[in-house]
Amino acid sequence: MKTHIEISRDNLVHNLNLFKRLSNKKLMFVVKADAYGHGLKEVLSITKDLSIIDYYAVDSATEALQVKQVDDKKKILVLGWSDKEELEALLINGFETIAPSSQFLKDADKLAGKLKVKADIHLKIETGTGRMGMAPAPAAELFNVSPFPYPNIRVKGIYSHFANIEDTTDHSYAQRQLEIFNSLLAKINVPGLLRHFSCSASSLLFPETYFDIVRVGISGYGYWPSKQTYISYIEQDKNGKHLHKIELKPVLSWYAKAAQVKTLETGDPIGYGLSYRTFNKTKILVVPVGYYDGYDRKLSNISTIIVNGVKAPVRGRVCMDMFMAEVTHIKHIKAGDRITLIGREGDEVIDADDLAELAGTINYEILARINPLIPRIVR
Ligand SMILES: *Cc1c(COP(=O)(O)O)cnc(C)c1O
Repeated sequence: MKTHIEISRDNLVHNLNLFKRLSNKKLMFVVKADAYGHGLKEVLSITKDLSIIDYYAVDSATEALQVKQVDDKKKILVLGWSDKEELEALLINGFETIAPSSQFLKDADKLAGKLKVKADIHLKIETGTGRMGMAPAPAAELFNVSPFPYPNIRVKGIYSHFANIEDTTDHSYAQRQLEIFNSLLAKINVPGLLRHFSCSASSLLFPETYFDIVRVGISGYGYWPSKQTYISYIEQDKNGKHLHKIELKPVLSWYAKAAQVKTLETGDPIGYGLSYRTFNKTKILVVPVGYYDGYDRKLSNISTIIVNGVKAPVRGRVCMDMFMAEVTHIKHIKAGDRITLIGREGDEVIDADDLAELAGTINYEILARINPLIPRIVR
């Protein structure tokens, strides 16, 4: 394998246990986007034996079917929108999904009737994200008409999602969203209805967002959702608010083998567009990984890798399937030797936060875009 991903079983279990302990609610583990780029199959091979997980959340019928193949014991909620064909697949397989509007409920009810099944639905409430979701008023009305207008629908849950919780240390907007949700809940009385709102950031910071289920994505994989979330946690900690010491452990490491090591002369260019020229006689290493693999082209000339426990700067543009790094300062490196793109080696660490900062994006995107074709190994 010229490049591969390693998944740490211990770290994944550690993070998920932490959220169970923190919340003591039902745990919904979000495994959309190929388990945030970690590899859906490999992640499920670990979590299928974890009884602390009640639900998986995915984006689509396709993903739901993949999950079911590995773990058919836990519930699956499809968070994304489904067209009629996909909805049919969901209903036939007994997956739960969301309804973002009254029209969707109406259509799902009709389809479920035709298929002679019940549709298990979580109502998605618009509280300020400006994305999918129905306004609180019609949602409240639904529960206050009798009989319930959609005989083939079972409303299992009601939920919403925060719009501005990772991007700031000012959580007043999140607070307002929560108030809208709470005032809706006060108007309806359905025993057993599962209420949920919390993602990783709110689960780390605000117990009042837990309700019945916490939906954990990024931090299950060992990352803080953002610097702001971490700062907010530290601030709260200083004020004595936290009972739990939170240590998140990254689950994913990314390795490759050196494809070639060679020496260039002073002034030689490196890579497409000749965007880097050597200042001296320079030893370079060719990494057999490129932007197709998910190593962002924006990392050209600015990121580093770890070679023999030492950081080595990327030189030139990241190509589709390769990039180059300078290893003039590193001895004993030859083709076939292992190098680290994300992970820890010796005293050095490179994580998805580092690459995200350099590429002008978030750790979510760095992880989710790692090509699913790269082999994953569970350790
Ligand atoms: C993706 C997603 C989550 C998970 O968010 P994290 O920040 O990764 O924990 C939770 N809820 C919904 C609706 C989502 O789409």
